[in-house]
Amino acid sequence: MEKNSYVSITLAATTLENLGVLKDLAEFWKIPYNIHPGSEQVRFLVSSGIPSEDENTQKSPTIIIPSGNEECRKICRQHGLQLEEKEENVRLPVAPETFTSLKTRVREFQGAQLTPVLATDRITILNKLKGTESYLLSLDIVGEYTNRIREGLEDPVSARFRLVSLLPIPYSVIPEALRNWSLRRAYSAAGESEENGPIECLRTIFLASIVLASKRPIPRIAFWRQGKRFVMTVTHDVESKKGLEQGTESLLEVEKKLDIRSTWNLPSERYPISDESLHRLAVAGDIGAHDTRHDGRLVLDSFDDMVNRVVQCKEKLESSGDTIVVGFRSPLLQHSTKLLAAIRKAGYEFDSSIPSWEALSPTSLKPHGIGTVFPLEVDGMVEIPVSLPQDHQLLRIQTLSPSEAVEQLLSLSRWIRGIGGVCVVLVHPDYEFGNREHQLEYTRLLGEFRKDPECDIMTLKGVADWWRKRRSTFVDISNGSARIRSLGNNLDLGGLDLEIVVGYAGSGFETTTIKTSMGDDLRLGPENVTGGQ
Ligand SMILES: [Zn+2]
Repeated sequence: MEKNSYVSITLAATTLENLGVLKDLAEFWKIPYNIHPGSEQVRFLVSSGIPSEDENTQKSPTIIIPSGNEECRKICRQHGLQLEEKEENVRLPVAPETFTSLKTRVREFQGAQLTPVLATDRITILNKLKGTESYLLSLDIVGEYTNRIREGLEDPVSARFRLVSLLPIPYSVIPEALRNWSLRRAYSAAGESEENGPIECLRTIFLASIVLASKRPIPRIAFWRQGKRFVMTVTHDVESKKGLEQGTESLLEVEKKLDIRSTWNLPSERYPISDESLHRLAVAGDIGAHDTRHDGRLVLDSFDDMVNRVVQCKEKLESSGDTIVVGFRSPLLQHSTKLLAAIRKAGYEFDSSIPSWEALSPTSLKPHGIGTVFPLEVDGMVEIPVSLPQDHQLLRIQTLSPSEAVEQLLSLSRWIRGIGGVCVVLVHPDYEFGNREHQLEYTRLLGEFRKDPECDIMTLKGVADWWRKRRSTFVDISNGSARIRSLGNNLDLGGLDLEIVVGYAGSGFETTTIKTSMGDDLRLGPENVTGGQ
């Protein structure tokens, strides 16, 4: 690894949409980048599609992400390479013993003039063309990212769900046993996911390729507050009057003991909510909106009706004057780009309705999810994926005991911890964890996070606010130093941490964290960087 200077990363693409994806990937890691390079810096080009001559006049080192078969064949013709296309399960480490994986179509370049730079035990992901400064990626991470996010946002309504929702009885009246039975049948057909954080895997390939090909330290802004590796947030969707009046009491006792503030998502018109109950929850945490009647029909509404409905819910919950409501959780975790746009139009700041992965959606009767355990911005709104399986799926569909459910949640949390994401716990006060007899298990679950010094615990609103704050900052490199700057004039960089990625190997990214004090001019020259390859 060369230590003499940082590299200036330039993003280029043949379409604006693809350039947007490269920017998303760079913004996720918060590495410095530009799309119009300055002349004085050492340049490193990351290009979706074969870069044109005038984009690369300096013959800078370049990672080429071929988009489509035609481009791959062109590259093969130019350099006398062969191409092997296959379905692969790509598996890459992010941190020690923490892997991400993705099932996808790989176009692997082969030929004597290639030197592997990044490879799994089965395929080469990044090759260097000998005698040139060009690097070829075997996966179209840009196209794959676009498709997966686009599909992940939608959860299409199945014919069966539409039929049931048109019955004169509301969804909630269908006996729960019958609902759970039909979900269970479909669940067993859906099986387990063979992928582990597919979006994370694409992001890993992006950064690992840059680190390995540029052979330079890459500064970035760490995901969370100084000293924190990951985040846990407790959320409750309160489905019934009994849950509101009894279940919340039991959960609150545990949370107060552990000094945890959670998010309480309430449907505004499903059952009467007394001012007292609302006040109690607003004091103990944040109130979120959970639709009006919670009848499963929100996702079927026209756009205008959706907006009216989510506005009505917000206004009703805010009418007591006790709380403001800026977050939304959709009933049945229903989601679509249309619904997200309606929630945004209604004045919400964030949504937390899309699972990272769920074996079965009651709406589409298929597996669904966005494939990441990190917040993401969708058209200016923060989406915080429901990253852990909700208690309903564990207890009622998979029929686990509360103790077994806790085991499964903790085991999945260890992976999220390794990756540095957000553990979103969804516990309904209406089910087993809301019973006093299971308080010990609930305490065991939350206690694991509480005693972890590297875990930050906050409400959903806390997560959304932090993510937005981090979003409005960037790493600036000038005179050989890297520092965090804010896009706005109001410089509040408190808690943000500059980190240097110095390598990528079998145990994931190798990083150096630089301790900075609050409000400091966060400055770091490459001479301070240690470690690496
Ligand atoms: Zn609900």
